Amino acid sequence: LAGRSFRPEGTVIEFRNGVKVGNRRVVAMAGPCSIENRDQIFETARRVKGAGGTFLRGGAFKPRSSPYAFQGMGIPGLELMREAAEAHGLLVVSEVMEIAQIEPMLPYVDLFQVGARNMQNFNLLRDLGQIRKPILLKRGIAATIEELLLSSEYILSGGNYEVILCERGIRTYETATRNTMDISAIPIVKKLSHLPIIGDPSHGTGRRDLVAPLARAAVAAGADGIIVEVHPNADKAASDAAQTLYCDQFDTLMGELRLIATAV
Ligand code: PEP
Ligand code: MN
Repeated sequence: LAGRSFRPEGTVIEFRNGVKVGNRRVVAMAGPCSIENRDQIFETARRVKGAGGTFLRGGAFKPRSSPYAFQGMGIPGLELMREAAEAHGLLVVSEVMEIAQIEPMLPYVDLFQVGARNMQNFNLLRDLGQIRKPILLKRGIAATIEELLLSSEYILSGGNYEVILCERGIRTYETATRNTMDISAIPIVKKLSHLPIIGDPSHGTGRRDLVAPLARAAVAAGADGIIVEVHPNADKAASDAAQTLYCDQFDTLMGELRLIATAV
């Protein structure tokens, strides 16, 4: 079902407010790694919208490497993010970590994110195949492109055809970056599949100074958009501060992406 031949013209996913993802429209999903408080998420929403972003991102349930690190605000965080997104005409994307969170998250998100660590949580994927809301499926930390596409089949085969894929870097022997952003995955997926694919240069590099160059590369390589971490006080972000853009940097990047999208 994920194969290009199933839908040669490419899948376009429609959201509220007339937003469409797919066939190289280049949407931007941006926001903090974690929702932290009301002021933070409202100020981020204002800046994301001002720069031309379409989705507000923010984690409420966080898959932290350490159980002692900030685990996210949970549903109260999603309530704040929904309010901030509505106030600024943005859509909401947030990560679902387990089956029990699907139902309570439904009223708050427009797009369910499945994180890299859950790309092969097949029970979660199966249940997401039963709902009628789009899914953002991120590539696993050590997953091949074929495995990413097979994971999408778990959702598609349940009858939910609205899946967006995401290249977010894979673990390699390189230590200069947190992960190695596999830009080649973007044109490869475009060839193999009709599903939209976006790039995540924040987790893809782990470094603020590399986010813009890799975002530009993803769009030049044919991505349907990007998802990036942005925070009004990026250095003090509760999670992933080192890879989080300052709002001004996001502004500049959006201008560059518009130019690239029209040129390629
Ligand atoms: C995130 O988007 O904040 C996140 C945890 O991403 P990933 O699953 O790609 O690590
Ligand atoms: Mn993060």
